[in-house]
Amino acid sequence: MISDMGVMGIPKQGPVVAIDGPAGTGKSSVTKRLAASLGFVHIDTGALYRAVALIAMEQNSGKLDSEKAEIVARKAHLEFKRMEEKNPANRILANGRDITDFIRTPEISMAASRVSAFPGVRSALLGLQRRLGCAGRAILEGRDIGTVIFPDADVKFFLVASVDERAKRRLAELEGAGADAPSFEEVRKQMIERDHGDSTRAVAPLKKADDAVELDTTTMTLDEVVRSMENLIRQRLSL
Ligand code: C5P
Repeated sequence: MISDMGVMGIPKQGPVVAIDGPAGTGKSSVTKRLAASLGFVHIDTGALYRAVALIAMEQNSGKLDSEKAEIVARKAHLEFKRMEEKNPANRILANGRDITDFIRTPEISMAASRVSAFPGVRSALLGLQRRLGCAGRAILEGRDIGTVIFPDADVKFFLVASVDERAKRRLAELEGAGADAPSFEEVRKQMIERDHGDSTRAVAPLKKADDAVELDTTTMTLDEVVRSMENLIRQRLSL
């Protein structure tokens, strides 16, 4: 019998679904819905980079430095936790402190993108992502899940959408969160900058895995995206 040892010898205890793509393509909303409907665990890997960026900046008077960020990534205890029975959304805790409400600002988005290009940070977060996913029945969303973290994922998706649509969605999200939202042009500019950094960095750049299913969500509703992905997952995993 061929045992499914997963990556780095950590046995995969069940199916893993990988969802990658640039910012604003709907990864988080879709993954949240899919996880709830399939009874899978949702692992938002972008939140880990955001957490490292936040803490590294807090510890270094707002500045980012690759060595200090790597120490944070290696030493901080990062965990996802469901805090309320009624609310299925995961919170992210760093050393026991709930930082969920501080990591979604435009400033932390840009800082996370910078931090994610530091090779030491990426390798420090690699093991954690694999351990979380190897528990099985997991959906991980990010930039390099299908290419680096779980090249042996059971189902892989790569979401894309036009930059205007993505900026529109991100702006609505910021406004919905009651944040002091920047202008559409500013959000669009930052998104292009972040995509460029994420796709051109030397280590684990944002890239579609050869065996990923690409889905353009520009003109699709959230329901349509979820339905088509869920059908494919159920079919591939015989659920
Ligand atoms: O997905 P989200 O926008 O929260 O990710 C924040 C940043 O973290 C991204 O712009 C990207 O630079 C980085 N990231 C990454 N690899 C992942 C997930 C996120 O480099 N797997």
